[in-house]
Amino acid sequence: MSDAELDGPVPVVAVVGRPNVGKSTLVNRILGRRQAVVENQPGVTRDRVAYDATWAGRRFTIVDTGGWAPDAKDRAAAIAAQAEIAVATADLVLYVVEATVGATDVDDAAVPMLRRGGRPVLVVANKADNPALEAEASTLWSLGLGEPYPVSALHGRGTGDMLDALLDALPEPAPPEQFDQEQPAGPRRVALVGRPNVGKSSLLNRLARTPRAVVDSAAGTTVDPVDSLVEIGGETWQLVDTAGLRRRVGQASGTEYYASLRTSGAIDAAEVAVVLLDASEPITEQDQRILSMVTEAGRALVLAFNKWDLVDEDRRYQLAREIDRELRRIPWAPRLNLSALTGRAVDKLAPALRGALASWEQRIPTGQLNQWVTALTQATPHPVRRGKAPRVLFATQAGVCPPRFVLFTTGPLDAAYLRFVERKLREEFGFEGSPVEVAVRARE
Ligand code: GDP
Ligand code: GDP
Repeated sequence: MSDAELDGPVPVVAVVGRPNVGKSTLVNRILGRRQAVVENQPGVTRDRVAYDATWAGRRFTIVDTGGWAPDAKDRAAAIAAQAEIAVATADLVLYVVEATVGATDVDDAAVPMLRRGGRPVLVVANKADNPALEAEASTLWSLGLGEPYPVSALHGRGTGDMLDALLDALPEPAPPEQFDQEQPAGPRRVALVGRPNVGKSSLLNRLARTPRAVVDSAAGTTVDPVDSLVEIGGETWQLVDTAGLRRRVGQASGTEYYASLRTSGAIDAAEVAVVLLDASEPITEQDQRILSMVTEAGRALVLAFNKWDLVDEDRRYQLAREIDRELRRIPWAPRLNLSALTGRAVDKLAPALRGALASWEQRIPTGQLNQWVTALTQATPHPVRRGKAPRVLFATQAGVCPPRFVLFTTGPLDAAYLRFVERKLREEFGFEGSPVEVAVRARE
């Protein structure tokens, strides 16, 4: 996986500082919320919490930490350690101090820890509720962390300037991924793929037989001449690279190599692939290769077992066992049992495509994602390895199409544990019909 994919386009900002300097108040201010996350009792300790934030149209994840002190004991020590981890895994740190108090010994002690993180640090001088206190904030240059930004988290003073500086200091956003943007209006792009003779042309003809089926490309949409616009389930779909199928030329002239290039091109051009399998025959290696092309390209997937009219009781039993064995890695792909010949279940295609695309584009709010990940990893922690168990600190969704997640952890996770998290993620949020990527960003 490339670095860009691992990092994802949403940067992470950690809010760190001594207890009671106003970190939670500041987080609430940034999130623009009235109701406070702030605990009633002062100094009450919390675990890190991550939220989605936006400023000037730019998204970032903001992580609130419980408070840092150099030689904290017991529960406070655990909280301080978590704050340090947040510093090590974030893209930027807001170090919050009190303008009313100035730099304390604790703040001086925090400086090496902040530098160790190697991330940009903005000094936020909070509780600068009036101009006199604002002026006072300049004494905080003494920390050696650059310009202090006076703000009043409580009243909103100065937070706009501070957030502008925050955006300037954030790493450049990763270039948007091909499908990571709002979808342009127009028909959704579908690849109809499968090895020769599974029934692709027959299915296309069946779909094209419904009234007003093959829509004219005049409607202002730019459609490649090799694509077909077909109405399925009351909606127009763009079936990519189907010219060969319609003219029934591809398979006669093409070598397998050529056919495979063509399949992979169609998958890349599509948002969702319908992989046709011949239900009357065993699942072959060529079927598997096509399925891998779809998952590796990160496209949504619908499995269509065609020629269901040829499937009898015995074959059905065999097929169920083949599916368990051969399609174990894609239990999330919806399966249709259809017949291009008789038309059986062809009407199920459109809902299946819509569902798969919805999963492909699904975004889980960061708050919800973190509530879930915290509950999961508390209920089932990572097994201990050499006296230590890596912990998942928080999670963000780095992108969609397909959904991509990043887990921020204290160390590398076992492959089995990562699979467990992925499985639970699907149990909780679904994603039927879409691949999902889960990457780990471990503290160095
Ligand atoms: P945290 O422990 O660092 O998260 O601090 P909190 O956000 O819980 O705030 C601690 C106390 O400081 C609360 O009573 C807040 O109301 C108060 N506080 C936070 N920001 C400001 C501010 O800008 N001005 C003033 N006067 N009080 C603030
Ligand atoms: P393609 O190479 O994937 O485009 O496959 P075709 O559409 O050319 O179909 C290959 C053969 O399977 C043809 O003889 C079709 O008539 C037959 N076929 C396609 N769909 C079905 C089906 O649902 N049931 C049955 N019994 N035969 C089918």
